[in-house]
Amino acid sequence: MVTTVEPLAKLIEAFNKLPGIGPKSAQRLTYYLLRRPDEEAKTLAEAILTLKEKIRLCSVCFNITDCDPCLICQDKERDHSKICVVERPSDIPPLERTGKYKGVYHVLHGTISPAQGIGPAELKVKELLSRLQNGSVTEVILATNPNLEGETTAMYLRRMILPLNIRISRLARGLPFGSDLEYADDMTLGQALEDRQEF
Ligand SMILES: [Zn+2]
Repeated sequence: MVTTVEPLAKLIEAFNKLPGIGPKSAQRLTYYLLRRPDEEAKTLAEAILTLKEKIRLCSVCFNITDCDPCLICQDKERDHSKICVVERPSDIPPLERTGKYKGVYHVLHGTISPAQGIGPAELKVKELLSRLQNGSVTEVILATNPNLEGETTAMYLRRMILPLNIRISRLARGLPFGSDLEYADDMTLGQALEDRQEF
C-alpha cells in the first residue's frame, strides 16, 4: 500500500533508504512514529540532526568522534606504538569488544577498488604514512576485510610501509575469506587478532 499523504510518503521513503529496511518495515516504522507522543518523534529527529552536526572525523586516526582527537587517540593508557588499520569506523567497535587490543587505530575510509575508480589517493593512506614517519610506531596491523579489495589494499599498504622498517602484521586466517569484520563474532575476531601474522 502506497500512501498519497505526502509527509507519510516522505518518511517511508527515507526509512526505505536505510540498510536492511525494506518498504514494509519503512511503512511500519512510519506509522509507529505517527502513533507515538510528539516528544518521542522530536527526540529521534534531534538525535539524527546532532549526529550530523556534532560528529566529525578525528584529525589523527579519522575515526568518527565528537571530540578531537578522539578518546582512543587521547588515551595515555593505550599503546601508541601499535596502529591497527581498518576500512571503516564501524570496524573499530567489534575489535574493541574483543578486549585483545590496546593499541590505536587508523581508518582508511574505504578500500582500493580499481573497478570503482578508488585509488590510494581517495583513502586516508597519505595520512597513515605521515603518522609512521616519526619513528614512534613499531607495528602496523592491517585489519582490512578478508576479501579481494581488503587484500589488495593490505598488499598495497605493505609495499608502502615495508621501507619504513616497521613490523607489519595481518589478522590471522580464522576469518572466512569474503567476510566482513563488522559481522565477525568476538571470539573469532579476538583469536585472529592474537594470532596475527607477519605480513
Ligand atoms: Zn583518533
